[in-house]
Amino acid sequence: MASQVDGKEYDAVIIGSGMGGLTTAAKLVENGCSVIVLEKYIIPGGSAGHFERNGFVFDVGSSMMFGMGESGTTNLITKALESVGKRLETVPDPTQIHYHLPISSAHPEGLEVKVWRDYDAFIDELSSKFPHEREGITKFYGDCWKVFNSLNSIELKSLEEPRYLMQQFVKEPISCLTLASFLASNAGDVARSYIKDEELLKFIDIECYCWSTVLAETTPMINAGMVFCDRHYGGINYPVGGVGMIPEAMAQGLEERGGTIEYKANVKRILVEDGSANGVELADGRRIYGKTVISNATRWDTFEKMLSKAPNEYAMPKSETSFRQKYKKSPSFVSIHMGIKTIDSVSPVLDTDCHHIIVEDWTKMEDPLGTLFVSIPSLLDPSLCPEGTQVFHAFSPDWIDNWSNLSAEEYEKKKEQVSDEILQRLESVFPGLKESIMFKEVGTPRTHRRFLNRIDGTYGPIPSRKPYGMLGMPFNTTQVPGLYCVGDSTFPGQGVNAVVFSGFGCAHRVLCDLGKVPSWSIADSAFNSLLSTVRNAV
Ligand SMILES: Cc1cc2nc3c(=O)[nH]c(=O)nc-3n(C[C@H](O)[C@H](O)[C@H](O)COP(=O)(O)OP(=O)(O)OC[C@H]3O[C@@H](n4cnc5c(N)ncnc54)[C@H](O)[C@@H]3O)c2cc1C
Repeated sequence: MASQVDGKEYDAVIIGSGMGGLTTAAKLVENGCSVIVLEKYIIPGGSAGHFERNGFVFDVGSSMMFGMGESGTTNLITKALESVGKRLETVPDPTQIHYHLPISSAHPEGLEVKVWRDYDAFIDELSSKFPHEREGITKFYGDCWKVFNSLNSIELKSLEEPRYLMQQFVKEPISCLTLASFLASNAGDVARSYIKDEELLKFIDIECYCWSTVLAETTPMINAGMVFCDRHYGGINYPVGGVGMIPEAMAQGLEERGGTIEYKANVKRILVEDGSANGVELADGRRIYGKTVISNATRWDTFEKMLSKAPNEYAMPKSETSFRQKYKKSPSFVSIHMGIKTIDSVSPVLDTDCHHIIVEDWTKMEDPLGTLFVSIPSLLDPSLCPEGTQVFHAFSPDWIDNWSNLSAEEYEKKKEQVSDEILQRLESVFPGLKESIMFKEVGTPRTHRRFLNRIDGTYGPIPSRKPYGMLGMPFNTTQVPGLYCVGDSTFPGQGVNAVVFSGFGCAHRVLCDLGKVPSWSIADSAFNSLLSTVRNAV
């Protein structure tokens, strides 16, 4: 079968150039595959992209980069870049987050905690706020280190490939057994086994919520271990020039190595022939064929929009129905990207940290607009904006329904009203912020849906009931032969380093299926049906 683009059948047709899709593409090209990445937008990166306005460079979403350290195996962004011959200069962040948390009887001024890059400094700071819980704090984060150290000692590839799993088990049996012992646990349960203070447990909740958008009791321990320790091990490092430099370098390296990326390439349909995915159809009618099709779009976009429109009305696979029972869409965000200036030599962000989280009322933490996130990346990289100014990004979770059914005028009015309220709340931490604004652009869940091409602008899947740790989360293969998913709709979930991990896993599984790297094809199907039985049962 021939592609109508250039007469060839690719080894892989990848839908989307988010960090999940780009990493998969990079690892496939590194192993001699022919790959085309089809991106609907005009630049690569999706949620990890960036844009420029009036001399300010803004990160679309993410500014807090894990996985850019120098050693171990979990520095996956560094490794993904290396796979296409790239390396980026980064600026180490001395803190991950400065939390500004509610007033309580124990903390009448509000609970202020900085998560220092230095682990002992962080534990000392947190223990100084909860001296009676020092032991519990040390034990909880100590368990996170057990998870992290185990992950950080094995090569991270596809957990759907028994040959690789067996090799890792032989090399690192203790690490593998440790990981297996935490696979079904959630951070909240582990925290509660060591910690009794309810305010401290709320702190563990916000520690999870700020990247998983769910509380600790629904956050898998494997993810918690990765996030809570890499920030001290590899550290949080900001790429000079902006987060978008990462996907741009990946895309450039990919093309230098023979991969193809097409922008403004809107995939409308995944082609299925004799039950197997074998290509895609673009909005302009072109068809591009591949031995495998890899979707970096969300599972909902993949299975409900691109697959359901196949002429043979391909039925929703059972595993997808099961996924939809266990996981739901997380909210999207309201984002305010601002350029701010120093007024009369006073800056609202003088002597502060790059990342802040503000919660005024624990009972409203999960409500729409209840938690405020702030990133000021120009404090680490002044090249992002003109001298005497800063880049200030404030964002907060919100649902698309709160922004639907509005006239154009109502929509604009609501944007102004909501952004004013957020700015008012930010004044308590950044006095003078409102006055210092030179430029402001407000995005809503509708903006996220439109520009990031994510259904309802969602941040990704969140458990709809208490999960068994990671056991229910799908990996990269799907029940449609030839079709794979990569990105935050797959193990291990949201976050740039996490989706890069899913890219390493996806590429490895695809390479096995294409016969480019050794695998145990006989054990494969038995192992994977066992995996899917477990996944569907939990
Ligand atoms: C506001 C915000 C703040 C965040 N902060 C952080 C942070 O500080 N640190 C962190 O690690 N993570 C953060 N994240 C999360 C992180 O950015 C994402 O989890 C990650 O980038 C998702 O990558 P992905 O590859 O799964 O998908 P995406 O980035 O969504 O990429 C998917 C790509 O597929 C394309 N696409 C979709 N459908 C089609 C189609 N039909 N045809 C062609 N192309 C298509 C899209 O245009 C997009 O480019 C943040 C996210 C947001 C929204």
